[in-house]
Amino acid sequence: MNATTAEPVIDLEQERQEILKRYRRLLRAAKPLLKDNDAKLIKKAFNTSAEAHKNMRRRSGEPYIYHPLAVAQIAVEEIGLGTTSIVAALLHDVVEDTDMTIADIERLFGQKVARIIDGLTKISGIFEYGTSQQAENFRKMLLTLSDDVRVILIKLADRLHNMRTLDSMPRDKQLKIASETIYIYAPLAHRLGLYAIKSELEDLYLKHVEPEAYKDIARKLRETRLARDRFINRFIEPIEQDLAETGIKYIVKGRPKSIYSIWNKLNKSKKPFEEIYDLFAVRIILDIPSDEEKAACWRAYSIVTDHYKPNPDRLKDWISTPRTNGYESLHTTVMSKTGQWVEVQIRTERMNEIAEKGYAAHWKYKGNDTQTGAGIEAWISQVRDMLETATSNTDKKTAIEFVDDFRSNLYSEEVFVFTPKGDLKVLQRGATALDFAFDIHTQIGAHCMAAKVNNTLVPLSHVLQNGDQVEVITSNRQKPSEDWLRFVVTSKAKTKIKDLIKEDNRRYVTDGRDLVQKKLRVLRMEMTNEVINQLRAYFGSKTTDDFFYRVGKGHIDVQELKKFKAEKEARENRQNKLSTDNIQDGKTFEKELKKIHGERADADMLLIGEDMDKIDYTLAKCCNPISGDDVFGFVTINDGIKIHRVTCPNAVELMSNHGNRIIKAKWTSQKELAFLAGLRITGTDRVGLVNDVTRVISNELHINMRSVTIDSKDGIFEGIIKLYVNDTSHLETLMRKLERVQGVFEVVRFD
Ligand code: MN
Repeated sequence: MNATTAEPVIDLEQERQEILKRYRRLLRAAKPLLKDNDAKLIKKAFNTSAEAHKNMRRRSGEPYIYHPLAVAQIAVEEIGLGTTSIVAALLHDVVEDTDMTIADIERLFGQKVARIIDGLTKISGIFEYGTSQQAENFRKMLLTLSDDVRVILIKLADRLHNMRTLDSMPRDKQLKIASETIYIYAPLAHRLGLYAIKSELEDLYLKHVEPEAYKDIARKLRETRLARDRFINRFIEPIEQDLAETGIKYIVKGRPKSIYSIWNKLNKSKKPFEEIYDLFAVRIILDIPSDEEKAACWRAYSIVTDHYKPNPDRLKDWISTPRTNGYESLHTTVMSKTGQWVEVQIRTERMNEIAEKGYAAHWKYKGNDTQTGAGIEAWISQVRDMLETATSNTDKKTAIEFVDDFRSNLYSEEVFVFTPKGDLKVLQRGATALDFAFDIHTQIGAHCMAAKVNNTLVPLSHVLQNGDQVEVITSNRQKPSEDWLRFVVTSKAKTKIKDLIKEDNRRYVTDGRDLVQKKLRVLRMEMTNEVINQLRAYFGSKTTDDFFYRVGKGHIDVQELKKFKAEKEARENRQNKLSTDNIQDGKTFEKELKKIHGERADADMLLIGEDMDKIDYTLAKCCNPISGDDVFGFVTINDGIKIHRVTCPNAVELMSNHGNRIIKAKWTSQKELAFLAGLRITGTDRVGLVNDVTRVISNELHINMRSVTIDSKDGIFEGIIKLYVNDTSHLETLMRKLERVQGVFEVVRFD
C-alpha cells in the first residue's frame, strides 16, 4: 500500500461535531415551518438514521449520515418541504441500505412516513441508461406520484445531492447517473416548477459528461463578466431611476443563463460564444403586497418599455395565466441601445420564490399547512392528470414508450384556449382543434368534424394559438382515422385515437371473420385453424386478424376464396400424385388408376389432361403426340409413364416386347377443345394439290378440319379451310407447312 491510498486517520470526535453542526443547520432552516412536536420528530428521525448508518461511509470517505442530512436540507431550503418530508428525507436510505424494515419505520414514525419511504425504496437503484429496466423504474417512480408527490420531491433532492457529489464516483457510474439525470430528473424538476434545481441538474450533467465544453463556457462567462455587468448597469440605469420614483421596493439582477442552456444555444445556432447575445436575462423583482402584485408588475413593464422598444412577439404574461407548474412572471424582450435583444423578467418576491422552489413555496404564501394546502392539491391533481394520460394502457405500452410519452409532456410548453362558455383549457403548445376536442371528452374528439376558432371554420388539424376560443363541431357519422395521428400532439388525444381505431379495427376483424365463415360454408369448406392459416398466407397477411381485417374492410373480396379453394385442391392433388416409382407393369398401374377413378367404365384408362394432377406422365419425344392422336401409355423403368402415338416408330417394338408395360390411354375431351380458325390458301392449280393440302392438315398435324371449300378458276386454286387448332403457334406451324406444299404461294388466316 502506498501513501496516497493509505486510510486517512479519522478524528471521530471532530466528525461527531461536524454531524451535529450539519443537523443544527437543518433545524435552523426548518424552524419557520415547525409546530408542536415537529422538532422532536425530526430529532428522532435524525438519531434513528445516524444509528442505522453509523458504520457506513460514502464513497468519498465521509460519514454516510451527511447524505440524508444534505437531502433533508435541500428538501427544506430549496424545495420548501415540511416536517414529514424532512423525516422521510433523513430516513430515505435506511430501509434499502440497513437492516431496518418498512414495518420498523411505520412503528416508529407512523404510516405516512412509512409509505413515502416505501415509495422511495421501490424506485431506488441504479439502472442502465436506455434499457427497459430503467424505463420500468422510471415508470414506477412516476406512478408513485399518485400516492404522494413528496416521494418524487425527496427523490429529486436525493438526486441533486448525488449529482453534487458525483466527483467521488467512478467514471462509468458518473455517466450513468448523469444520463439518467438529464433524461428524466431534470425534465421532471422542470415540470414541477423547480427551476433552480432543474438548472443545477443540467449544469452538473454537462460538467461530468462534457467537461471540456462546460469548463470552456464557464471560463468565457467569467471572462466576459465585467463587460456584461457594465452593459447591464448601463441598461438598467434609466429603469432604476423611474422605478425609484414609484416608491416600490425592488431588486434588479442581471443573471447569466445556465451553462447548459448556453451550451444548447451554441449547439443549435452553430454560432461562436462571442456572437450569442442573450446570455443573460435582466430580472426585476418587486417587493409588494400580494393584492398589488399585478398592477405593480405591469407598471414596471410600462417603465421598461418607455426606455426600450419591446418585441411584440416576445411578451409572455404568466401572471394573468400562470403556467400549470405554478410559474408566474412577466417576460418581455426589448431592444437595447446597442442593438441587442435583452430579455426582461418582471415578477414579485413571491413569484420569484415559486419560480425557484416550485409550487411547494406557494403554500407559504397561501398561509396553508404545508401538507394539506389547497395549492399543492390542485398542483398534484394536475400532475396526476398528466400521468393518467401517460399511464392509460400501460399494459399495452412498453415502459420505454411510456417514459418517452411522459417526457414529451414534461418538455411541452402550454397554449391557453377557451371553450365557447369561456372556460380556460391549457393544452400543449402545437395542440390542434382535434386535441382540444379530445381534451373536452373522448366522444367529442371521436366525432369531431371541424371546429370554429374565433368563429371561423377551421379543419381538425388547425393549430391553436393563445387566447383562441374554440367550438367543436361534431357529427355522428364521423369516425377516428389513422390520419389524425399525424397532427395531434397531446398524448391524451394520441392514446384515445389509437384506442378508438383499435376498437374499430376489431369490428372489421369480426365482420371479416363472419364473411369468411359464410363464404367457406358456400364453398363447402370447414373453417379450421389450418384453413384460416392457409388463407392468411395465401393473401399475404401477417396475422389472421390482419387477414380478417382486410376482408372486413373490403380490401379482399370473398369471391377470391374460390380461387384459393381451387389452388388448394390442385396443390393437394399434386401432393397426392400417384407415384409410379414402384410400378413396373401395366396391370398394377391400371389397378391404381381404378382406385383414383372409382366406379367408371373406363376407370383403367389413363386420361391425358384430366389425370395430370394425379399421375406423373409425359409425352414421348419420339412421336410428339398431340390431342386427338391415338395413343397408348408405356410404363418406363425410371421415367414414369410415357405417352406414345400408336403410329410411333417405336410403337411396334414396345408393344411386342414389353406388352405387360402397356396401358390404355386417351385424351380427355377437355383437351380436345380447340378454337376454330379459317385459312385461305391460294396457288396454282395442279392435279393432286387438294390431296396434298388435306394430307398436311389431317395426317401431318392431326388437326380436325371442319370444312373445306376449294374453288379453281383459270388455273388459280383457292381453298377456304375451317379447322380446329389448340392455339396460334399451332396454327402458325400449320401455315408454314402448307406454304411448303408445291404450288401454294400464299396462306392467310381469316376470321
Ligand atoms: Mn440517497
